Amino acid sequence: MRILILEDSKPTQHLLQSRLEKAGLTVDTADNGHQGFQLATSNAYDIILSDIHMPHWDGFKFIEAIQVINPHLPILIITSSHDDRHTLDRLEHYPNVIGVLSKPFDFEALFKRLASIPAQAHTSVNKKAKIVCTIGPASSSPEMLGKMILAGMDVARLNFSHGSYEAHEATLLAIREAEKTWEKPIAVLQDLCGPKIRTGLMADGAIRLMAGEVLIIQAEPVEGNVDRISTITPGILADLRVGDPVLLDDGLLELRVVKEGREEVHCEVIVGGTLKSSKGINLPSTAISLPSVTEKDWRDLDWGLNHSIDYVALSFVRTAEEIKTIKDYIKASGKRNLKVVAKIEKPEAVQNIKEIVEISDAIMIARGDMGVELPAARVPRIQERIIQLCWEMNTPVITATQMLDSMTVNSRPTRAEVTDVSMAIKEGTDAVMLSQETATGVDPVNVVRTMASIICEEERYARGGADHYQQLMEDAAINPALSAVANLSTNTATLLLDPDGTLYPTLSKWNRKVPILLVTKSLHVARHAGLYNNIFPLIIREELGRTEMVFRSLTMAREWGYIHTGEIVAVVEGARLTRSGIRQMGAVQVLRVEKD
Ligand code: PEP
Repeated sequence: MRILILEDSKPTQHLLQSRLEKAGLTVDTADNGHQGFQLATSNAYDIILSDIHMPHWDGFKFIEAIQVINPHLPILIITSSHDDRHTLDRLEHYPNVIGVLSKPFDFEALFKRLASIPAQAHTSVNKKAKIVCTIGPASSSPEMLGKMILAGMDVARLNFSHGSYEAHEATLLAIREAEKTWEKPIAVLQDLCGPKIRTGLMADGAIRLMAGEVLIIQAEPVEGNVDRISTITPGILADLRVGDPVLLDDGLLELRVVKEGREEVHCEVIVGGTLKSSKGINLPSTAISLPSVTEKDWRDLDWGLNHSIDYVALSFVRTAEEIKTIKDYIKASGKRNLKVVAKIEKPEAVQNIKEIVEISDAIMIARGDMGVELPAARVPRIQERIIQLCWEMNTPVITATQMLDSMTVNSRPTRAEVTDVSMAIKEGTDAVMLSQETATGVDPVNVVRTMASIICEEERYARGGADHYQQLMEDAAINPALSAVANLSTNTATLLLDPDGTLYPTLSKWNRKVPILLVTKSLHVARHAGLYNNIFPLIIREELGRTEMVFRSLTMAREWGYIHTGEIVAVVEGARLTRSGIRQMGAVQVLRVEKD
């Protein structure tokens, strides 16, 4: 049996630990709730003995966090406040609190209690790949966001295809509040809708189109009916030619143009079905003259520059030039380091992929629109190729859309969805994304927890392949310290002293087996790192010398369960002028973790 004890009083902690270990049980200890939660995310405990009054996350906060990641893990409260009615009443609300053990301890009663606890089934949530969650009505409260953070969310996506500035502002505030409460840096990704073509509104919210009928798409706004609908981007009507396919709602419905016109276009319904309001329109064979960054996108980008956004994603990118325009604009604004994500969904982007990856800070494989703009059968190979290319070019990549789509309404994923997430991890994606599953789904926390468990399972088998090794050799000349640590096979963790966040992108690519603990002062660096596979930020704000910094990071890494006594840790740092005036290019130090 494996037990975790949370107790801030050292004598009580030692007393419990020694009695339990003497009885042959395996025991870990933590001084507070936060440390205890970190340990419980990566270790398989059968029961937790927890104090209530602790300095950093008290017992209640800890129990709430555990309920998210492992709702059935039994917790036995150890307290001297056993006659405090208020505390006892509060504890009754938590189904996994199985009792209260008062101090001084009755060990006979404790052992009896432990003997009745069955071994627990465990799913680790301490994954290396990252999870991007789209935030919507089902997930925008600070409470829900907090639970999603605990379950494994790393990046929150605000979809600017929907919602007012007021609503986005409220969501952003809620994200920042939850980030602070649960002490995990969260990157916020603003997704600009780009020239996304949509239908207008439909009478009663939806209409039914029948194959063989004629439907008119008109410029003038109209409440849609079976004869006529409108589009929010009337400029595209002039681009349509007879014979062009018009795909509605991610290609579920299909029309074909039979009569051209600037004000109205006549189409034959080829594949009918129900069409709801504001659904997407894709024109895979039409040369569209719309600008790739719309007026709304520029306004939204200005909003992003004035708020605490970390990444901005551009939809329907066609060329590297479009990304450069956005990057130049951000630079000229002089406001802050906002990173740019290119969404790959157009055939032109697939064609220009090398140049786009080269210039972008990150890539999103937007499989939803990609599967409509291109034959869906091509999507898996394109995904694999883009992930490989991003790996070679040292760019983080998000695999997006329909990953656990059925969980929008169901509590379990389909086996095909589980395989899809697993395959993306196996191919080496940095992050996987949830869309309507977390924005409007029935149980966003359950979806994130499910995704984290699939990632963890697949990561048990991760290893660098031959291509990986070749890449490492080619890059070795650029940074010998990084390649040296990537080749090391004896360490259980790598401590990366990277104050400006310039090294972690490379190390994320080179080493996905051993956790990389990014030591930084900057919350912005830590948030950006949320998109990179296998990077875990440790924020240390004090001005410390190198040795003190290493000590402090090792203590934190040990408290959070990344390293244990006797294990080997590699410490890596980049170029700097040392205190003794030596111009260091890079350094690797290999340490053994000593007892306290
Ligand atoms: C996609 O098409 O896969 C995608 C991520 O874009 P959006 O959700 O903005 O349509």
